[in-house]
Amino acid sequence: MITRRELEAARQRAADHIQKAGFPVRPAEEAGIEVADFGLGRLAEEGAQILTLVQTERIGVKLIVLFPGQSLPEHWHPPVGSDPGKEETVRALSGALSVYLSGADTMREGAPPSGKEGVYTCRHELRLRPGEQLTLRPGEKHWFQGGPEGAVAFSFSTVARDILDRFTDPSVLRATIVKD
Ligand code: ZN
Repeated sequence: MITRRELEAARQRAADHIQKAGFPVRPAEEAGIEVADFGLGRLAEEGAQILTLVQTERIGVKLIVLFPGQSLPEHWHPPVGSDPGKEETVRALSGALSVYLSGADTMREGAPPSGKEGVYTCRHELRLRPGEQLTLRPGEKHWFQGGPEGAVAFSFSTVARDILDRFTDPSVLRATIVKD
């Protein structure tokens, strides 16, 4: 749960990051930036700000904004019927986006949120700088973290069904509850 004030502040800050990245956005789009705390109530440590640019039956294009040190919790995109699950390409636009995958532990720049080491199991660190990108295979477990200046990144994907995403942390709720 987050307060209305926290939501508005995070939305404004995310809009500033996007503007500084030089990506033009209309005011109506800024007002629609999703602020997700994943039901954890500690937005500065765990959360994400997401602006959906394209969402059709087939593809999704989003901007993901992470503040410095903010982590988007570990998750994967499971198969749905004959679909193997969402394939996603992330591309850094500004700042630095740390991506964590399973594999050899190369974590140097970032760290799991305090007290959450057990539910952030991926330790293979790749740090994407502006212009760098990475494609995540369907079903591949991953989490993201904003670098020292935060991160603005594109997410290009096959159809996103966020509600079906699976998280390692059992306390994650995909819906953000806002308290007025
Ligand atoms: Zn993902």
